[in-house]
Amino acid sequence: MSANSDHEQQIAAGDTLRITEIFHSLQGESRTVGIPTVFVRLTGCPLRCVYCDTEYAFSGGELMSIDDIRQQVATFKAGYVTVTGGEPLAQPTCLPLLTALCDDGYQVSLETSGAMSIAGVDQRVINVLDLKTPGSAEVERNDYGNIALLKPTDQVKFVICDREDYLWSRFKIDELGLSDRVSDVLFSPSFEQLSGADLAAWILEDKLPVRMQLQLHKILWGDGPGR
Ligand code: SF4
Repeated sequence: MSANSDHEQQIAAGDTLRITEIFHSLQGESRTVGIPTVFVRLTGCPLRCVYCDTEYAFSGGELMSIDDIRQQVATFKAGYVTVTGGEPLAQPTCLPLLTALCDDGYQVSLETSGAMSIAGVDQRVINVLDLKTPGSAEVERNDYGNIALLKPTDQVKFVICDREDYLWSRFKIDELGLSDRVSDVLFSPSFEQLSGADLAAWILEDKLPVRMQLQLHKILWGDGPGR
């Protein structure tokens, strides 16, 4: 990151956030898949997962105040809002943004990498927390302190790249008691790395209590911004 973008990130830490995009789409993953949802994508991420599909959100973006974001979200007249990234929690102002969106009456979810603490997240927000697998190349970034902070309404997501990732994830569900902690444990095959049919067969063979998901938005529209 350049000195200039460091400076811009500091500016965004006041009462504004750096935003890559705000758009209206169908939720592509999680328990609310298929439901019209407004996405607020925050700029920046300290991770570099090998399968990342939002590299365009690593830099750039536009500075927006919380009120500007609320006004833009309201234009879509949706009941669901997902705050995503990048890694949204990398910007401290994400926390008051989440609270403001809850205050506005939306069902708010937060998509987070699992590398940063969710301790300050408003209790009304549904956390969709990744646990990074070995195949992501960011497994060392998992903050396991988050596990004790999960609520029964939260969800934990594994993006699975290969059989080794599957076995690792199966072990983690058991080790961390995830099925008892959260409403859904989500397994997604890494796009273009693992066949959905293979992952489905493994889940059924092991009678694993997870929800497998394909990314609906990519099936409908492919990869790219605004989807
Ligand atoms: S945490 Fe998400 S946004 Fe960041 S590199 Fe990984 S996949 Fe990309």
